[in-house]
Amino acid sequence: MRDCFILLSAGKSKRFKSKLNKQFITYKNKPLFEHSLKTALDSKLFKKVLIVSNKKIKIINDGNIEVIKGGKERHNSTQNALNYLKNKKIKNVFIHDAARPNLSINLLKKLKKKLKKNKAVVPYLKSENSVKYKIKNKVNDLNRNKVLLTQTPQCFDYQELFNLYKTNKEKITDEASLYLRNNKKIKFILGEKKNFKITTINDFKYLKSEIYYGIGFDIHRLIKNKKLFLGGVKIPFHSGLKGHSDGDVIIHAIIDSILGAMRKSDIGTLFPSNSSKFKNIRSKNMLIPILKMLNNNGFSINNIDINLICENPKVSKIRNKIIISLSELLSINKNLINLKGKTVEKLGIIGKEQAIACEVISSLSK
Ligand code: ZN
Repeated sequence: MRDCFILLSAGKSKRFKSKLNKQFITYKNKPLFEHSLKTALDSKLFKKVLIVSNKKIKIINDGNIEVIKGGKERHNSTQNALNYLKNKKIKNVFIHDAARPNLSINLLKKLKKKLKKNKAVVPYLKSENSVKYKIKNKVNDLNRNKVLLTQTPQCFDYQELFNLYKTNKEKITDEASLYLRNNKKIKFILGEKKNFKITTINDFKYLKSEIYYGIGFDIHRLIKNKKLFLGGVKIPFHSGLKGHSDGDVIIHAIIDSILGAMRKSDIGTLFPSNSSKFKNIRSKNMLIPILKMLNNNGFSINNIDINLICENPKVSKIRNKIIISLSELLSINKNLINLKGKTVEKLGIIGKEQAIACEVISSLSK
């Protein structure tokens, strides 16, 4: 084990437009750069981990990690790292951008394996988009099958890379381009899509999409001579649910759980029961403004879990109909909705079929 993982964390994040450099922004409870640092350490593939940073960083050091100062540009930082490793008996270097936090141990292992027979191994992705290039004012088409989008870590025989860097005078954006300029052979292997690079603040927001949970509960009394609606479906039954609206406990509990996850108060505030405007309203129509609020605030539903608490009707017999109805009303795939039935051993008003209750937990992403 004579390999070194070089983590480039000295970038100025010009395209990121934030006061804090992106590699230090908090992602999943720790600075961005620490994610690939942890992956490198967990892989146990490296003799040494070298962090190149222009900012002082605190690391719980187990002796294998060292921090050195970066240069003005990326290639200056790599140069500093290679100079620092001189005479440290390093065989291979893995050079990684701190802005790719989702590096996997699996990718590191694949790269390491290929280094046995190659002096340069670089991960790449195929282009999923059609590619054009422009020379002067003429735009030309490029066969996308010939396009390689290179990722990091880019891995090299230390000595060979050191020698190439020593004679290089030009600005390079990655080590692979230095190799290509010198007509050196690179083994390209397929990288991982999730190992993408955060360049702009929008990339970061996409990566960071936050998850929220909300809980909802509702109970309505059953009365004769009223139609029963559950999850927007009319169910044949001896009684219906009493209420200002159609008393649909499932939809009411769903609404409260979604409002809860969005931190937007509750159903009673939105649809006051003393307002004649909402008298006899079909509950499925109450979902319309809720879904509008959801969309306008950038939320989407991850999943909904429902407990319907009643002695009768039997949930197993109405489950599919309700799930299909809810998936249409909420415009989500039906496999994101779960409906469980719960009886109460004939206890209390629910047990005597005088009421139906419902509880719901919703998960949303923003
Ligand atoms: Zn209700």
